[in-house]
Amino acid sequence: MSQENDCLFCKIIAGDIPSTKVYEDDTVYAFKDINPKAKVHVLIVPKDHYPNVAALAKAEPARLAHIVEVAQSIADAEFHGEYRLVFNTGVDAGQTVFHVHAHVLTGEVLDE
Ligand code: 5GP
Ligand code: ZN
Repeated sequence: MSQENDCLFCKIIAGDIPSTKVYEDDTVYAFKDINPKAKVHVLIVPKDHYPNVAALAKAEPARLAHIVEVAQSIADAEFHGEYRLVFNTGVDAGQTVFHVHAHVLTGEVLDE
């Protein structure tokens, strides 16, 4: 696994910072967002460090597709398979952690 020393989400994946796990397999980790914006707000991250979704898509498109599958399975369990999937990409789009993460928002009817 490639990780970065000063990356918050690499530390969460390594277990050095606690998180509430929702799902884990060999390639991805999913955990509850500390500041939820919906009834269910889960972050899904690849266990390897990529700075944003474009870098992940270029290097490992199958792992990006897997993240979508995991999002679907979370929403299947939480809210009849319906959800919002967000990848903030860049500071001006609201990205604050530069380890790619999918925001899965579900569990309730969402505002537009
Ligand atoms: P971004 O703004 O980069 O798209 O999303 C970063 C997300 O990470 C935010 O929704 C924020 O609440 C969440 N977050 C920041 N620090 C922590 C943390 O230490 N633990 C957890 N579980 N989530 C965090
Ligand atoms: Zn990282």
